Amino acid sequence: MTTRILEPGSILGVLGGGQLGAMFAAAARRMGYRVAVWDPDPHAPAHQLAVHSCTTPFSDPASREQFSSIVHAMTLEWENVPAELCGWLEERCRMTPSSAVLRTLQDRIEQKQFLSSRLLSVPSFAAVESGSQLVTAVNRLELPVVCKTAKSGYDGKGQWILRTPSDVNQVQTILGQAEAGHRWIVEQFVPFLRELSVLVVRNERGESRVYPVVENRHDQGILRETLVPASIAAGVAEQAQELALQAVEALPGVGVFCVELFHTEHGALLINEIAPRPHNSGHYTLDVCTVSQFEQQVRVTCGLPLGEVRLLSPAVMVNLIGEDVGSVMSAEGCSALYSTSGAVLHLYGKQIIRPGRKMGHVTFTAPQTETVIAEAQKFRTSLKSPV
Ligand code: AMP
Repeated sequence: MTTRILEPGSILGVLGGGQLGAMFAAAARRMGYRVAVWDPDPHAPAHQLAVHSCTTPFSDPASREQFSSIVHAMTLEWENVPAELCGWLEERCRMTPSSAVLRTLQDRIEQKQFLSSRLLSVPSFAAVESGSQLVTAVNRLELPVVCKTAKSGYDGKGQWILRTPSDVNQVQTILGQAEAGHRWIVEQFVPFLRELSVLVVRNERGESRVYPVVENRHDQGILRETLVPASIAAGVAEQAQELALQAVEALPGVGVFCVELFHTEHGALLINEIAPRPHNSGHYTLDVCTVSQFEQQVRVTCGLPLGEVRLLSPAVMVNLIGEDVGSVMSAEGCSALYSTSGAVLHLYGKQIIRPGRKMGHVTFTAPQTETVIAEAQKFRTSLKSPV
């Protein structure tokens, strides 16, 4: 199969204009492409890098026509954009990932049903549409469980850990108050040893690249930091990469995908979630890989050959969440950071600081893993919310 290559100068459209869209746009511009951004939030960071900005709602019919007439290919930076819009766009230009893949991944229930139908390991789960179904699911799966909204949840939003019968009662009441038609997934709580993730890049010809396995630490459902390479045996890393690739091939996904995994104390690897886009846990690729996840997204969007995924150095990526960003905005704070060799600061240019909002990140790089871990730890103690 031959894929038409879009030449530099072409306009690449991106749905969503957050930091992932901005980093995609920066990579595209460096590679000679122009970018059109569609995000209803006029302050979304990617708009600043766009030759064409659209800030109308995704449902606006005139904007669809106009946007599709400008762009040569489309991608997305957020999985919650309307799949129907992606379907409409893909009839007019190249759209990666496809609307079909997006539909499967947008809904946590469909995603888990799909993965288990392909015999890819996931935590035990049940689909729930009411408070009483929650009780039935808890009886089957047994406490503790995690209850998540089927659609639109991110960074731990719309998610509860249920440990006691009283937690079940509380969440049952919350579910009872939700709009009709709302669905949730209830999962067995996995007492994982560590959380891992793997980036998989796959093009229309079915060629793929798999990045090294990384280890993630979350705080209240939000990614706090990522260590690469993960501190796991080579055999486990191979299994994780193989599982991630199998999942993306099964979809079949074209684009950049992040497969999040739980590694249990019994050595099992379970898929928690697949994101059909570059991922926060892959930001290290900007500073310590020959080709970043965002450049790969540009390459797939344009039909270019995939890039190599070689890791040049160990790294720890620390997110700057909410008020954390204040620690690097002062003269003292940023000078301390810039005095740390191997530290790379990325600020997303967001005007408003909100609790839980990702404002930037720092990548610590050094030849030895112990050094990056120590530098990251030292830095974390200087943050507003050290963890
Ligand atoms: P998610 O939005 O599904 O990625 O969940 C956010 C975070 O919640 C994960 O990174 C885990 O730390 C935690 N979590 C989600 N699902 C489970 C589960 N079934 N068992 C244990 N922890 C979970």
